[in-house]
Parts: sequence; structure tokens; C-alpha cells
Amino acid sequence: MITHVFAGNPLDRGEAERRDPDWLAAAFRDPSSRVLPLHRLNALIEGRDEARLVWLSPAELARLDIDAQPIFLGLADDIAHFALDISALADPNHELNLDEQSRFEDARAAAMQLPIADTGMLSHARAQLDWHHRHGFCSACGARTAMARGGHVRKCSDCGAEHFPRTDPVAIMLISDGERCLLGQSQGRLARSGMYSALAGFIDQGESIEEAVRREVREEAGVAVGEVRYHSSQPWPFPSSLMIGCHGRAESTAITIDETEMADVRWFERREIAAALAGEHPTIRVPGALAIAHHLIKAWADGDVRF
Ligand SMILES: [Zn+2]
Repeated sequence: MITHVFAGNPLDRGEAERRDPDWLAAAFRDPSSRVLPLHRLNALIEGRDEARLVWLSPAELARLDIDAQPIFLGLADDIAHFALDISALADPNHELNLDEQSRFEDARAAAMQLPIADTGMLSHARAQLDWHHRHGFCSACGARTAMARGGHVRKCSDCGAEHFPRTDPVAIMLISDGERCLLGQSQGRLARSGMYSALAGFIDQGESIEEAVRREVREEAGVAVGEVRYHSSQPWPFPSSLMIGCHGRAESTAITIDETEMADVRWFERREIAAALAGEHPTIRVPGALAIAHHLIKAWADGDVRF
């Protein structure tokens, strides 16, 4: 079993505690509580060789007088953990008195340096803060909404509708015809970098994971897929996806590319993939270990996938 980057959150999400507004308010004043500050969704980390998230005390944040509601992430050893948007600070490094070891980094860059447990907490905090930013108004009636349950719901001030932080499922699949696997290069940035990856796409409404895998591969590459097997999943907080990783068996091999989405789609031999994974292929690259695509590709290259 594999725990991907952005999973592995060790906190108990405190379902009972988050339903008690008095408990939440007291916890946010408790000196032992820990608060993860995010500035424009960037995470505060410290350390170079062994980086970790920086948690502040409620008192450290109180003196900054930031008008933002904390999100309750959960509990570890009875210590409450929160996330707080501090984007209101113009110069957070100065206002937080940060030393040279501490810096705000984009969540992807931070995740490459942090232990898995920290990436899991960061992914929860980033996805949820971003969702709250974008859902200040009710999608049913247009009135203002307000956060409740420590961030697990927003309630409409007028019609009473409840809105819940959403997760968007994405199917990502490594398709094989036995000895070769199918990788694509999407249009844009990746096309210029020589990067080839597993095909992927959002799962549609009224569609199973297997059906989404077959549809996406048919649309992007014109290849028919038969059996589909689940491998593992990865939260991807940009802004709030869940990557559902699968392997699939090709039932046809001719490729017809959807040129609006894909710059190239090709079959690759196992030895080419092994070279690309080792960073030794002369022309192509594959995603690094941060991404679930790497692990889908590696599992196949290592011979762990058999149909
Ligand atoms: Zn409403």
C-alpha cells in the first residue's frame, strides 16, 4: 500500500468537537493550540534538509489582529490544530518576525521538502481555505454564507442552504497493451518540456471510475480500454481534486489524438520507461515521485501490473 504526497494527514478531524461552537472558540484561545498560517495559499515551512510546517500559537496570531476565521483541521494528542488565512498581511515575513530558516512556499514546492504527514495537513488546509474564499455567496439564492462546524460547512444567511467543501474526482490511468504503455503530452507547458505522463480527466456526473477511464482514453487517444483496475489515490489540492489512479488493459492500439487537448500520445516500450524513470532517457521525461502518475508508471515498469 502506498501513501502519496498530500495524503497521510495524521489528525483526527474532530467530528464531534467541530459541532460545538463554544469548544471551537475556547480551543482557538488555548495557548497549547497550533495554527498553520497560509499566505495567499502558500505554506510557512522551516528547515532546509529536514523541512517541516511552522505552526504558530493563537497568541502570536492574535497580536496581528487579522480579520479571518480559523479553520479547524483536527486533533493530535488532544491538541487542536487550525489553519488561518493571513493574506491580509502585506509583508508576512516581517510581521511574523521570521528568521532565515522560515519561508512561505507554494504548496507543490513545499510538499517536495516536507514529510508525508505534513503534506497531508497542508493539503487539507489549502483545499479548504481556497474553497471558503470562493464560496462567500449561496449558489441557490445569492445571499451571503457563513462558515460553521470549523469549516466543514457554509450556511446561507437567507435561504438556509448548506454548502459543503467539495472534492473533484479525477481519473488518472496508465494503459498498457502488455509490453507497452500509453503516455501523453498535454498541450501547453508540458509539451515544451519533453514531459510525458499518464492520461487523466475529470470524472463526469453519472459516470463510474471505470467508465471515465475508458471514455478519457477513447477521447484523448482513440484507444479502446477493457479491464480497469484501481491502484491508489492522491488528494491534489489545486484546488481540490482527488486523483484516482488506475491501470487499464488496451483492446486496440491505433492512436488518434485529440489535438485540442493533447500535443502527443504514444506507446512506450518498458525499457524506455525504465530509462525515463531513472532520468536517463535522451528525449523524454516522466513525472517525479510527488505525482501519482509516477507511481502508476513505475508499478507497470516494475512488472507489478498483470492483466
Ligand atoms: Zn441561499
